[in-house]
Amino acid sequence: MWAFEPNDPNERFRVICQLCANEFCSLCNQQYHYRTGCQQLTVITERWFFWCNSERARYLAKRARQDATYAVRLAEHEKQHAANRQRNEELRHRYDTAVADEKYKAEHCRHCPHCHRVVERIEGCASMICGQDYHGGNTQSGCGKSFTWDQAKKYRSATVRRPEQLMNDLPPPESPVVVHENIKCDGCHETVRGIRFDCVHCPSLIFCEKCEQNCTLAHSDENRRAGQQQHVFRLIMTPFDEAMYL
Ligand SMILES: [Zn+2]
Ligand SMILES: [Zn+2]
Ligand SMILES: [Zn+2]
Ligand SMILES: [Zn+2]
Ligand SMILES: [Zn+2]
Repeated sequence: MWAFEPNDPNERFRVICQLCANEFCSLCNQQYHYRTGCQQLTVITERWFFWCNSERARYLAKRARQDATYAVRLAEHEKQHAANRQRNEELRHRYDTAVADEKYKAEHCRHCPHCHRVVERIEGCASMICGQDYHGGNTQSGCGKSFTWDQAKKYRSATVRRPEQLMNDLPPPESPVVVHENIKCDGCHETVRGIRFDCVHCPSLIFCEKCEQNCTLAHSDENRRAGQQQHVFRLIMTPFDEAMYL
């Protein structure tokens, strides 16, 4: 394991596994994520899954009644039915895995008091060394400092919102389209208007609501071909929401 050490021990950082070359988050051990805290990751995954699974079609249909350009997106949505379905299945898997993983960590893991990394107690002994099982052998990523299990804080499980609450944050179709000043869409290269979509698993990838369907499906294909899991996009309704999840 190789890690970028942070100045602040509470800060998460990127850990690159020497065996598989994958990038992990030091605090939650999930695929490394950008511009969002570990606590919000499950909620963001859930939000993206619901959007892809049911809300996109509903949102486009409502908007299409006011704005004919949305009718084009809606037609594309019908056309992309098979691709959407495949992705939804993969996203459902990613979401279910994330929820199960949170539950497991809440039961079995704590945070190292020195570096806040997630550590799992493998054997019964309460003397821990961050990054390795006390009795040797196991090599988890860690700072190498000693502590006892009782000194370590319990793993804080990510809160999962209920689906009904999730449905309420979409802008109503009759409201004016929000403009995200100085934020450019990587699809059409124009200023983002409406819902902004940020990939949390890429250093920088942003789409506007008109490009989002086709561009994120293309991104899904790329990641699938690279043998990666589905990336998750965070929905940002207004510029004020952006700082909320950091
Ligand atoms: Zn690995
Ligand atoms: Zn994390
Ligand atoms: Zn540590
Ligand atoms: Zn765009
Ligand atoms: Zn991505």
